[in-house]
Amino acid sequence: MKTYSRHNCKSAHRTAQTFLRCAVPRAAWVAGHGKFALIAWCGVPTITLHQAIEPALQQRAVVDSLGCGGRCRKRHEVVHVDVGGTA
Ligand SMILES: [Zn+2]
Ligand SMILES: [Zn+2]
Repeated sequence: MKTYSRHNCKSAHRTAQTFLRCAVPRAAWVAGHGKFALIAWCGVPTITLHQAIEPALQQRAVVDSLGCGGRCRKRHEVVHVDVGGTA
């Protein structure tokens, strides 16, 4: 699993949500809370955060089989978000 620890500004992000808005500026939306992100790189990226790895992997299994939207290309990735602080 990849760890996301790089973003595009010099401020310290306190939450994974603001971190990912910075790190993945193309994302249509970032939903939820937690350090584990399911990123759908299908068309415009969408990101859903989870508190633990298991629900993130479960959700990926669901979108892998059902598709995440109209232009799904099955590019669904679960990553760990390291915001660098104590978030
Ligand atoms: Zn940033
Ligand atoms: Zn998809």
